[in-house]
Amino acid sequence: MRCSVDGRELLNFCSNDYLGLSQDPRVIAALRDAATEGAGAGASHLVCGHDVQHAALETELAEWLQAPRALLFGSGYLANLAVVQALLGDGDVCVQDKLNHASLIDAARLASCTSRRYPHADAEGAARQLASHAQGAALLASDGVFSMDGDVAPLRELVKVAHEQQATLYIDDAHGIGVLGDGGRGSVAAAGLASSDVPLRLVTFGKALGNAGAAVVGDADLIAHLAETARPYIYTTAMPPAQAAATREAVRIARAGDDLRERLRANIERLTDGARVRGLALMPSDTPIQPMLIGSDTHALAMAAALEDRGYWVAPIRPPTVPEGSARLRITLSAAHDAQQIDGLLDALAQARDTVMA
Ligand code: PMP
Repeated sequence: MRCSVDGRELLNFCSNDYLGLSQDPRVIAALRDAATEGAGAGASHLVCGHDVQHAALETELAEWLQAPRALLFGSGYLANLAVVQALLGDGDVCVQDKLNHASLIDAARLASCTSRRYPHADAEGAARQLASHAQGAALLASDGVFSMDGDVAPLRELVKVAHEQQATLYIDDAHGIGVLGDGGRGSVAAAGLASSDVPLRLVTFGKALGNAGAAVVGDADLIAHLAETARPYIYTTAMPPAQAAATREAVRIARAGDDLRERLRANIERLTDGARVRGLALMPSDTPIQPMLIGSDTHALAMAAALEDRGYWVAPIRPPTVPEGSARLRITLSAAHDAQQIDGLLDALAQARDTVMA
């Protein structure tokens, strides 16, 4: 987790590399070996860009996540645009959590549907908004793990609401996959839900899987519809086959990665316990995303600068990424951190608080 920033070595506590797989020699070797076969895919999937590596990755993802089918996308951002645009149009509604990722918010803006946002994690609010839209198709969309807060959506309630209101449920599990649930199958598995309870799910490869790219997994008919109609799937070059090969290796490691998840869990506990002892107020979260709410933008920037002076890289997150007045340090943990590094960060956080917030 050491990295060089403008020539200085810093310890990184703000990446989404939760299992440390971006630096795993096996993943790097898979990327390098596959790259000897060629660099780019040469075309979009539907023309001639769909390589055997892409096909194998789709099959292995579907098998891992116990879903009928998976479809690859260049990024999670594109996948979210694709899902909303393929399923909704004039007269339809997208109902989503107020704190969903920007790509879902943008997706609803770009599709010509009605867009409604319910208060954070409020399944009853979602039900009310769906009920007030009597006609047309409805999509209920939520992050599985919220990217700037680290908390988990009320998935069981959302499944119930979607069923009662006849809406299609879509869970963006960018931050849950590889980290939560049995075999790293994500927030849906962690909530004790079956894959069939959530017809469509987003998996991204740029976080716990240490690569880049994404897939939507789920119901075979819905996925076929995406492949036939979603413009961010059809009109773009397929990801490089080597990227798919490296992601296949990362999936293999993540599936069998209970040791990595245990190390990550121990790191989360070390940080939250150490913060309590030092009177550092972290936001409530059981995931590797452990934000410290600061409030003002100026204080958040000053805290981040003070940490950087001590050799720690923690990104200050400010509006519009988070609501006004809720600037924060978004601390993220990885299985690749060790106890000493976490204790060092805790001490640096306490010192920075005492100087900046005094
Ligand atoms: N959804 C969520 C919840 C995210 O946090 C992100 C990335 N920050 C995305 C989607 C977009 O994924 P990608 O980086 O692969 O475009």
